[in-house]
Amino acid sequence: MNGYRDLRVALLGCGSVGAQVARLILENGDELAARVGARLELAGIAVRDPEAKRDVELPRELFTTDAERLVQSADIVIELMGGIDPARDLILQSLQGGADVVTANKALIAAHGPELASAAEQVGAQLSYEAAVAGAIPIIRPLVWSLAGDHITRVMGIVNGSTNYILDRMDRFGDSAEDAMRVASELGFLEADPTLDVEGYDAAQKATILASIAFHTDVPVDAVYREGITSVTAEQIEAAKHAGYVIKLLAIAERIQAADGTVGVSARVYPALISRDHPLAAVHGGKNAVFVEAEAAGELMFYGAGAGGIETASAVLGDVVSAARRHVAGGPGIPGSQHADLSILPVGEVNTAYQIMLEVRDELGVLATIAGMLAQHGVSAASVEQPVTQQAEGRARLVIGTHRAREADLAAMVEALRESDVVLEVTSVLRLEGDA
Ligand code: NAP
Repeated sequence: MNGYRDLRVALLGCGSVGAQVARLILENGDELAARVGARLELAGIAVRDPEAKRDVELPRELFTTDAERLVQSADIVIELMGGIDPARDLILQSLQGGADVVTANKALIAAHGPELASAAEQVGAQLSYEAAVAGAIPIIRPLVWSLAGDHITRVMGIVNGSTNYILDRMDRFGDSAEDAMRVASELGFLEADPTLDVEGYDAAQKATILASIAFHTDVPVDAVYREGITSVTAEQIEAAKHAGYVIKLLAIAERIQAADGTVGVSARVYPALISRDHPLAAVHGGKNAVFVEAEAAGELMFYGAGAGGIETASAVLGDVVSAARRHVAGGPGIPGSQHADLSILPVGEVNTAYQIMLEVRDELGVLATIAGMLAQHGVSAASVEQPVTQQAEGRARLVIGTHRAREADLAAMVEALRESDVVLEVTSVLRLEGDA
């Protein structure tokens, strides 16, 4: 050890993640000191209720309700309260005071990342948020550091464990959507209000963060196209399985080219079909994974626990040790990189493929009419199947897989099908993602 002074660490929040972070700092003090070159002194823990029972036994005298005072004398502030207020003000205050900040707060980074990054840059402090995307999985650091010399083309992740658990139960155990939701809720995979998860908001926050880092461009969360899993049916899951696919809620950040030649970023979240041979198809239960494609590195996959107090604490501690080492070594924090400043392109510009299920009139010439409508929109069919299912008199079922085309053309084609006399009902439209 080089005799560097102790570093004062302020912890904001002592819930599922915070309590584990406090425990690890206190229990592993000697080893952390050896890794950092200075001792990490847990200066205090700000909470709402200092008397509340915690997951971990911690010294009472560390607790305070005065978060503002606590951050004033800190070298490193760890924000694990969640939410926007007062977390945002406390982080800004900490950075302005020269402290490094580590947070797991995806909602805050998604909404105010550029503001916080610029506050850090102004004073040469470090802002880190490895735990904000996919819990324990190292994904921010690989994108920012390890792939810094490469060109990332696409990042595609299963970044919400709750929805993956629900879809996985429907796929593996044949559960209805309601049953899968009920079990997920009973096992604590869903909040009392599951909207953030099942409507894709949580995944959209993570897509914003991944897209901004991967493409060196600020991608605001309201620019992320979002569909949740609430409309996914057991019938769609079954049909997908039959065709060799699985349905996953994907957060995708991709560099794409628009019809007018503009190169930009697409960020989107939706349930999509992927081949059962794709590595993401093997991500079961509440696990997360992020599949990265880069020009030189090729395909990479990062897999593991996307949530959980102790698992997430591992990612937080990694950031804390890095920040502490920087203090010891000296020099400013590493600023964010937004130099590319690419356009954010709407989902209509994405190149994708559709799988469409239809109920049509069981008459001669129907297939030719439908083929004509596809051609009119510049879409070509990769497959047309008529599954052998019991249909009402005069009705037939068709499953059409398209080749890749512009999303706007595919969507217009589906609208035309809906309005056509030969189509009785469009029962399902799903995108097909991944090339495996
Ligand atoms: P949590 O269990 O709800 O704990 C929140 C903590 O913050 C509690 O100790 C609470 O104090 C304190 N707190 C909240 N508002 C406060 C205020 N205004 N003033 C002072 N203290 C306040 O949250 P968590 O699950 O640990 O999550 C923390 C952060 O990590 C969130 O941003 C979350 O999105 C992120 N994250 C969590 C996970 C996970 O698996 N849990 C995974 C990845 C990222 P009291 O205890 O006194 O109420």
